[in-house]
Amino acid sequence: MAQNVLDLTVLEEEIQSHHDELIELRRDFHRHPELGTKEFRTSEIVEKYLNDLGIPTQRMFNTGVVGLIEGPKPGKTILLRGDMDALPVTEETNLPFKSENPGVMHACGHDGHTSMLMIAAKVLKNHQSELTGNVKLVFQPNEEEEGAKFMVEEGVLENPKVDAAFGVHLWSQVESGKIGIQSGPVMAEMFIFKLILKGRGGHTSAPHEAKDPVPCAANIITSAQTLQTREISVLDPTVIAFGKVVSDGSYNALANTVTMEGTLRYLYDGDDDTPQHPRKRFRRLIDGICAAHDIDYDIEIVPSSYSVINDEESVAFLKERVLPNFTTADQIQPYFCLAGEDFSEFINRNNVPGAFVFIGTGDESKGTTYPHHAPNFDIDEDTLITGVKFHVHSALEFLK
Ligand SMILES: [Zn+2]
Ligand SMILES: [Zn+2]
Repeated sequence: MAQNVLDLTVLEEEIQSHHDELIELRRDFHRHPELGTKEFRTSEIVEKYLNDLGIPTQRMFNTGVVGLIEGPKPGKTILLRGDMDALPVTEETNLPFKSENPGVMHACGHDGHTSMLMIAAKVLKNHQSELTGNVKLVFQPNEEEEGAKFMVEEGVLENPKVDAAFGVHLWSQVESGKIGIQSGPVMAEMFIFKLILKGRGGHTSAPHEAKDPVPCAANIITSAQTLQTREISVLDPTVIAFGKVVSDGSYNALANTVTMEGTLRYLYDGDDDTPQHPRKRFRRLIDGICAAHDIDYDIEIVPSSYSVINDEESVAFLKERVLPNFTTADQIQPYFCLAGEDFSEFINRNNVPGAFVFIGTGDESKGTTYPHHAPNFDIDEDTLITGVKFHVHSALEFLK
């Protein structure tokens, strides 16, 4: 036991010694954000960093970088993931290392994720001789749309075959110092819809001679709200949001068409084909309302990401063997949200055990409680080191 405590202290000091480099890396990525699938600079830096450490890498899905640290003794393989993409957001912070790429911003904290996994790679490489098995370091492109799926298609879960996968997200809605973790669904299934209502334009003085799609659109928006609160249990979180509603009419011309775009998010884990499925209910509602208004429509509902569902055993592993190494029980809290996240491709969608954890980075006094994707979003840099510890301890414990 004494030995273990000593080891932990030494490891803690080792990780802390990379603190300045961690912050520097994050600030550099923050200054040079790149959109999904265009993470050219970021992935080159990551690749060179890993290669300089002596970690062989492989490219996947163009800008994706996968590093492999093989222990001297054969064993299991753990996958650790960090995403690298930024967002089409114009930064409105006053940070000295504010985005220099106009219209692009690290507004989700992926600059932090990339840096955390790089430093974890450095520490784990230093402990290579203690590993029974392998660590696969996955630097993923295009998380905000879809990237994981393509890496899986290119074989990221094979050679060596992945036995467990873990991921983290810095999260501004969780207080700095806290860690959000629970088993079961923790992030929503998200589908993107595009609906086009097809009426017939006309003069606003004689609506009866036209076929106005606007009241139909209004009806769909309000009825979708009752779907969430009257049809589906409020205990089963569901959000149907219309982010864009555009009619092609004008002040004196009734619209020909109304285009509506938005997202459906829910934690429903039942069969896709049952009438109770939120997507099925949404289609039924649109079909019924359009019929009532005698309006034709086209609809596309396409997957963006699937629910991230943490398995119980992986959560127990983290709670019992990983988190106690660097945090206390009172800092750990259950947490889930309805954001989309394609980490599900590494675990649930391919039957790999694993878990996704939220690292609190919200601190009012540091101005880091703004929502993700907002132009004034920022992370509490003091929490980055927690992410490094999470990766390092997960790998060392899993490969003991
Ligand atoms: Zn995001
Ligand atoms: Zn994100």
